[in-house]
Amino acid sequence: MPIDLHDGDLPEGLVWNGSVAIDTETMGLNPHRDRLCLVQLSAGDGTAHIVQFRNGDFRAPNLRRLLTDASVTKLFHFARFDIATVYRYMGIVVEPVYCTKVAARLVRTFTDRHGLKDLCKELLGVELSKQQQTSDWGAAELSSEQLKYAASDVLHLHALRSRLDELLEREGRRHLAEGCFRFLPTRALLDLGGWDDPDILSH
Ligand code: MN
Repeated sequence: MPIDLHDGDLPEGLVWNGSVAIDTETMGLNPHRDRLCLVQLSAGDGTAHIVQFRNGDFRAPNLRRLLTDASVTKLFHFARFDIATVYRYMGIVVEPVYCTKVAARLVRTFTDRHGLKDLCKELLGVELSKQQQTSDWGAAELSSEQLKYAASDVLHLHALRSRLDELLEREGRRHLAEGCFRFLPTRALLDLGGWDDPDILSH
């Protein structure tokens, strides 16, 4: 798989037709504490772009423009976390978004297995390795295994979206998915603001 590693921002002139698959890698699961290290992106063409943040400079004007471009839908798996992390470190709200985990929960009600690995295997017949998931993403020089793992998290999101859209259509739940996707940025900001646990919508 072709992987383009970029230092601190995307280059000029990349074309994203309508949608871009995105994932982030951080130092851990607490956005207040654990800094953003990588943003991985793919146009769904088999190539992954990886933006690495090494020196605390999150200005990244080209990436910023893409993440807030209203004409490009950002595809995530578990968007809630990535949106919160990007807001915490870049100060921008990523919109509009599509989340394959939310879509999977709406149509695959016969199972509670909605991890990216599960969806790739069951909807696409693709085996993903999760071996590098908990590695040190803050390292200045990333290993080729880390880069491959980081890239693999965005390479299948376009194909997953197509399958999940068919299933949302079949089950008549497209409107529920769209409502969730519109609410996701607010959900992420609520998480950062302290309304994560208990959830603001719980009794
Ligand atoms: Mn990832």
